[in-house]
Amino acid sequence: MIPARSFSGKRVALFGLGGSGIATALALKEGGAEVLAWDDNPDSVAKAAGEGIPTGDLRPADWQGFASFVLSPGVPLTHPKPHWTVELARGAGVEIIGDIELFGRERALKAPDAPFIAITGTNGKSTTTALTAHILKAAGRDAQMGGNIGRAVMTLDPLKPDRFYVVECSSYQVDLAPSINPTAGILLNLTPDHLDRHGTMQHYASIKERLVAGSETAIIGVDDSYCVQIADRLERVGKHVIRISKRLPLTDGFFADGTDLMEAEHGRYVRVGFLEGIGSLRGQHNAQNALAAVAACLKVGLDLGEIQSGLESFPGLAHRMEQVGKKDHVLFVNDSKATNADAAAPALSSFPRIYWISGGLPKEGGIESLRGYFPRIAKAYLIGEAAPAFSATLGETVPYEISGTLDAAVAHAAKDAALDTTGEAVVLLSPACASFDQFKNFEVRGEAFRQAVNAIEGIKPIGGIN
Ligand code: ADP
Repeated sequence: MIPARSFSGKRVALFGLGGSGIATALALKEGGAEVLAWDDNPDSVAKAAGEGIPTGDLRPADWQGFASFVLSPGVPLTHPKPHWTVELARGAGVEIIGDIELFGRERALKAPDAPFIAITGTNGKSTTTALTAHILKAAGRDAQMGGNIGRAVMTLDPLKPDRFYVVECSSYQVDLAPSINPTAGILLNLTPDHLDRHGTMQHYASIKERLVAGSETAIIGVDDSYCVQIADRLERVGKHVIRISKRLPLTDGFFADGTDLMEAEHGRYVRVGFLEGIGSLRGQHNAQNALAAVAACLKVGLDLGEIQSGLESFPGLAHRMEQVGKKDHVLFVNDSKATNADAAAPALSSFPRIYWISGGLPKEGGIESLRGYFPRIAKAYLIGEAAPAFSATLGETVPYEISGTLDAAVAHAAKDAALDTTGEAVVLLSPACASFDQFKNFEVRGEAFRQAVNAIEGIKPIGGIN
């Protein structure tokens, strides 16, 4: 745990007692703060009290006496409307912050030189975070990974100068981290998302911008216009910006040329790494993630040999284009995290011949936007509530069956793919749907796929992935 010593002797209100809220409250307490914690859910309050956290209703509390208010990132700060605690804090002029801010202040106090890589963006955050932490660890560095992935940031090992921190930040977390100042800040991309919580795209983009604006070095993916504007703006004010592109040959920065990772300086290029043959980093989207990780690792002092060997040994993240098994020429890929059409697109674009398992609880727009990938689909196996709507979109263009359940879909797809003579057959679960009609969440759906694949006779499981 990282004790939040910068709050020693101060009164701090905290709202939101989920896993990260409890961890943050304990870090504050350990650091010597006088905490008063609360949640709208009485069970969460009881659980926190059981862990020795002082709890109490924040409605009648003396807000003038609080130095800070620590809010869980899941609780609305601005949209659709501020939570009641936010109104009370604002009314009393109390700063509103989150756990990443606590981490930043502790770093400033204890180990300002401890390398800190912070990652945000609409898509690819977890992959880039896991990849960066993996490269550092594989190179023998003491690397801690957390934030919006895995462990809450204040549960990481205490700060010391030679310890590396790789922290995934959701926009909600950045919104609550006004003084975030990583050594390397990564903004991967920006597309409309979570606008229910951020109001407008402008507001959402301005929150993400804060992470790179505060960084010593800002690493920005320039494949969308929002990020280009941010990179331009930061450069104009003299910030050190490293641009990355998954498709454009840049004059300065890092870009992908097929599976080669290139660094450009004043229009001259050198190859700094490659993704050829790395199954866990297939696809253009992963080139963007890899370029960001490479740029960040170079910034914190790794050499190219260390970085390449980390790229090559990256096992990938579960449920994101995760290779789970192989039987003869057929590869089985679990992309259960693809809960909408946009998220399914990278997987569909990464394989030439696909036996596609899709469906579940449909999202608005269905799979219309994936039409461009239909020629890659040898056959579709439709499951869940979306099956009738998806079959209507596939129409005459793509052969399909309504399999109903995931187990039936895996069995049928495996049988058909086994007869495929192209040598490139992939059975892909990339549902383009939420899972809740048949599964508790996308992780459970992905595990069910893995189990069904593992049950196939003669399968060679691939994996042991985190
Ligand atoms: P996040 O943590 O931002 O949700 P993940 O790394 O978990 O992102 O990836 C989720 C899904 O998003 C992946 O399965 C893939 O389909 C897609 N994805 C991953 N990286 C990118 C990227 N750089 N650009 C666009 N889509 C991506």
